[in-house]
Amino acid sequence: MAYDFDLYVIGAGSGGVRAARFAAGFGAKVAVAESRYLGGTCVNVGCVPKKLLVYGAHFAEDFEQASGFGWSLDEAQFDWATLIANKDREINRLNGIYHNLLVNSGVTLHEGHARIVDPHTVEINGERHSAKHILIATGGWPQIPEVPGHEHAISSNQAFFLNELPKRVLVVGGGYIAVEFAGIFHGLGAKTTLLYRGELFLRGFDGSVRKHLQEELTKRGMDLQFNADIERIEKQADGSLKVTLKDGRHLEADCVFYATGRRPMLDNLGLENTGVKLDKKGFVEVDEQYQTAEPSILALGDVIGRVQLTPVALAEGMAVARRLFKPEQYRPVDYKMIPTAVFSLPNIGTVGLTEEEARDAGHDVVIFESRFRPMKLTLTECQERTLMKLVVDAKTDKVLGCHMVGPEAGEIVQGLAIALKAGATKQHFDETIGVHPTAAEEFVTMRTPVAG
Ligand code: FAD
Ligand code: NDP
Repeated sequence: MAYDFDLYVIGAGSGGVRAARFAAGFGAKVAVAESRYLGGTCVNVGCVPKKLLVYGAHFAEDFEQASGFGWSLDEAQFDWATLIANKDREINRLNGIYHNLLVNSGVTLHEGHARIVDPHTVEINGERHSAKHILIATGGWPQIPEVPGHEHAISSNQAFFLNELPKRVLVVGGGYIAVEFAGIFHGLGAKTTLLYRGELFLRGFDGSVRKHLQEELTKRGMDLQFNADIERIEKQADGSLKVTLKDGRHLEADCVFYATGRRPMLDNLGLENTGVKLDKKGFVEVDEQYQTAEPSILALGDVIGRVQLTPVALAEGMAVARRLFKPEQYRPVDYKMIPTAVFSLPNIGTVGLTEEEARDAGHDVVIFESRFRPMKLTLTECQERTLMKLVVDAKTDKVLGCHMVGPEAGEIVQGLAIALKAGATKQHFDETIGVHPTAAEEFVTMRTPVAG
């Protein structure tokens, strides 16, 4: 049977755009549907605007530290509206780039909400298009628990477009988004409280990293409240929010920001017209090659709920394009040793196993850890300390994990990830000559284990 398209991609985010462009490059006839914004979450309400706001927030400490190097500045002033307007302009520019990337690679772009009407047909803007393969790349959406008054709270989607910087912000959650946005608001001058339901935030990260970040954020004056959760939120006559905690305490804020995870975006997608199955958490279930239970339909990225990171969605998009249209070049995505950064202030960078994961997996481990005051701060009042940690297998000498909290941790860990992927041992680290004077050289000069 002849189809209108070889591949119909629903969602022009990180994974969808990558799959569409490469499939078209391999000679396939491809269409992409996008209902909101080209580039998806990462470009519009994720990685990119978030990083721009983190850069903005970082200036506060740069100004403070500058005096140690002889600079004197008048009192620094910050204008939220300027930052947001400049950020919006940059995102608009990127939207245009994504448009050109798609169109120039021969992909047909349909702007509107797409709905699957049968396993080979998509409906959009009142028109139906048939396709041999349909790819669901619809991403995720913030999930806010339905506590009374949750309608007064915002998610990351709104945080990027606030008219003004709130004076008092209550950030709820202990994952990536909560920690990053608490850093943004605090850095830009808002009185910031981070409220997390568990003992210590960033569950799943290395214990030393979590503790170190807790200490650093506390030093900076952020109010961290653990073992705390919201019972209800009430709007008061003056527009402020009264928050009642489950332990009976009350807090006041001008903005309550929930960062409590993301659900798959499947709204009105028409999955009931297909044999696509969902997993226990509601994400689209796929096999090793991203095929759903419906043979003509594939899915990737945040909607499959594996690793919700842009570079992972990109790798999955590439794998799908190759598998369908260039099978001789197909390579499965390797989910081991995925490096990641949390752009808190200070940053976290991590790759490989945490100490806890390594021990649980039965490794006999040797731990190397270093905490130091970075050279850049020695002329300043700032007492921030950097943490670097290596988790090494005692038997094979292989470095199982590298973890860092400190300036540019993400940048540093990207390079280390290549070494770990290549199977580097502690001896390789020891034999590597440092770059002096840097903070990163500490990763190749740690000699004395702190624990075995
Ligand atoms: P998305 O990028 O979400 O794209 C899905 C697209 O599908 C959207 O454009 C949506 O509008 C469209 N769509 C949905 N339904 C339909 C429909 N029915 N019809 C037509 N179009 C539809 N990752 C990192 O690696 N680093 C970071 O620093 C980082 N920071 C983040 C910060 C925040 C605040 C958030 C929320 C996420 C962040 N992420 C980060 C995660 C990253 O953004 C996602 O993992 C990535 O965007 C997932 O790509 P995707 O292609 O699966 O989906
Ligand atoms: P995460 O899954 O990282 O964290 C969710 C947090 O919310 C956890 O601390 C969780 O607690 C808590 N939580 C969940 N449900 C509730 C509830 N009902 N009440 C109170 N607390 C709750 O999600 P995020 O929203 O922070 O981010 C989504 C994903 O986006 C990330 O996992 C990451 O993959 C990606 N991302 C990546 C970034 C990067 O690469 N720098 C930046 C931002 C996002 P508990 O631990 O107890 O379950």
